[in-house]
Amino acid sequence: MKLVLASRNRKKIAELRTLLAQTLLGAEVLSLDDVGIFGEIEENGTTFEENALIKARAAAASGYIGIGDDSGLTVDALGGKPGIYSARYAATEGEAGEHDDEANNRLLLKNLEGIPPERRGAAFVCAVGCVFPNGKEFTVRGEVRGRILTEYHGMGGFGYDPLFYYEPFGKTLAEVTPDEKNSVSHRGNAMRAFAKRLREELAAGKDLL
Ligand code: IMP
Repeated sequence: MKLVLASRNRKKIAELRTLLAQTLLGAEVLSLDDVGIFGEIEENGTTFEENALIKARAAAASGYIGIGDDSGLTVDALGGKPGIYSARYAATEGEAGEHDDEANNRLLLKNLEGIPPERRGAAFVCAVGCVFPNGKEFTVRGEVRGRILTEYHGMGGFGYDPLFYYEPFGKTLAEVTPDEKNSVSHRGNAMRAFAKRLREELAAGKDLL
């Protein structure tokens, strides 16, 4: 069985390969490059799930099972922002270019100025979409809840990790090992939910492939 992940990110592909190797023996995970899909995919959905499915559909054009993921940070006190715009948060407010982690974190701190710890709750969210060759689709979601600090802690991870305090660890997600982060993270949770659901769908549906 072949699955195509709508990503060119080698780390994400390796992660999914490892996870599926534990749950779906013999599954082969390919990248968009591997199946000759080279164009940009326009992520114009309004939810994490819509964007994940847009990417999964593009990958499913290969004829294999298509998988897409979309993730971001939702902050309670900001009405769920930056949400699906997490990667370009500072850019959407005219403060910087796209994918500028430092500018995004600065803007997040600025927008939460004066807000006390008990009102700084937030969640990382990850949706995974899956499209079968017969057109059937599903999505799953993983989340991890935490709190946005007022100062940076740690050098690991990426994006908003140095500001995201995870109570059970007593640390930010930038202060833990990649394995520790993966064991509780939105992406880890979403990928585990995806592997479980895929196994169930394959066991139940005969005309999926
Ligand atoms: P993507 O959908 O995985 O590309 O993530 C979109 C954006 O959400 C990233 O550019 C980060 O700003 C933020 N983000 C997603 N996952 C994480 C995480 O695990 N740590 C920190 N930031 C994240």
